[in-house]
Amino acid sequence: MGAEDFLRGMLRGFYSAHTIGSVPEISAREFGFGVFGKKISSRHLAFRDAAEMNSFLREKTPFYISYSDALYSRPADRPMEKKGLLGADLIYEFDADDIKTDCKLSHDSWQCMNAKCGASGKGNVDVCAECGSGASVEEWVCPDCLAETRRQSLNLISVLEKDFSFSEGVSVNFSGSKGYHVHVRGIPVRGFSKVARLELLDYLTGTNLDLRALGFVYSNKAYSCPKRGAAKGWSKRILERIEALFNEGDASKIAVFGNAKVSQAKKLLKEKQGLISSMDRGFLVSGRSGVNAERFWGSMLGFAVSEDKLEIDRQTSIDINKIIRVPDTLHGSTGLQAKEVPLSALPSHNPLKECVVFSGAEVRLSKVVAPKFYLNGGWFGPFNGDEVSLPSFAAFYLLARGSAELVS
Ligand SMILES: [Zn+2]
Ligand SMILES: [Zn+2]
Repeated sequence: MGAEDFLRGMLRGFYSAHTIGSVPEISAREFGFGVFGKKISSRHLAFRDAAEMNSFLREKTPFYISYSDALYSRPADRPMEKKGLLGADLIYEFDADDIKTDCKLSHDSWQCMNAKCGASGKGNVDVCAECGSGASVEEWVCPDCLAETRRQSLNLISVLEKDFSFSEGVSVNFSGSKGYHVHVRGIPVRGFSKVARLELLDYLTGTNLDLRALGFVYSNKAYSCPKRGAAKGWSKRILERIEALFNEGDASKIAVFGNAKVSQAKKLLKEKQGLISSMDRGFLVSGRSGVNAERFWGSMLGFAVSEDKLEIDRQTSIDINKIIRVPDTLHGSTGLQAKEVPLSALPSHNPLKECVVFSGAEVRLSKVVAPKFYLNGGWFGPFNGDEVSLPSFAAFYLLARGSAELVS
């Protein structure tokens, strides 16, 4: 048996034993599915109800199944314009690929695509370090980079609630692979135009954020800021971020983020109380530290914004026609379940453990090539072309990405 048939058998086993019921207003959604090696091979499908979708999963056993965040009166019609758009949920995707984390140096590797050069190395880079040609990257995930996507998802949920009062209809699920999807389903957001979606996305990602308009203004050698008690949204987060940095009390960090000397940062820290209380009155002061106020506070504001801007995949959130993984179904590149996570459980969620659905029955594999990777609560590898027996969840994970072969 080849890898494809083997994996399909595992998927079929799961769908025979489980019922997926996670798509609200299912009859108004467009569906698409994918086969081994291709995430979307066919779309413009529709299901009357969850029972029909579940029969489809049992009979056809797709490697991937996605649905539209849009709702249509005739979801199976084509082209898109004929579907009768009724509105669309908001969807935000956080992917470990898009976020720079130090762990990539330990689990990702690149290879120059210019055959004459052939350089390679660890980490995730766009271009070859030797010759500047494009590089192909072998990407893996680990608990650290997934924790970063989770932190971003939690920040998003908090901003949506605090700044926009969107708390009803917010749900989040593991993507099944490299991050999380946050869905906002509800009447208020459904009619948002493409322009409104773009504006909201710019706000969330801090794109073109106008600090002057928010009240952070430099003039006469001093910085004014919104009064802390009255600050909302971005202003509030920026001030909180600055206060937290001073409360942390690390002078070298303040020096780096404020583009100042460590000795100056130490002086600022001594005057911390005065500095924080002047934020209440609407001023960012520099006391007797000797820093250049314009440069120091300008850098600090830049730091505060960069800490809170969300790394959202832009395309997913503004493209109303996009289809995205059905929560609670399996991701055919990993064998992990795109499990919906209760918001209260999200902070401590461990997707590489809690979204494992296959058993530990051993499978014999050959030509296994992988860095050290974490799955189902334990570490495996590294492997360098080895022949080994691994639990079936790890076998799926490796076979699906072509990092191993099945020993028949
Ligand atoms: Zn090269
Ligand atoms: Zn990582």
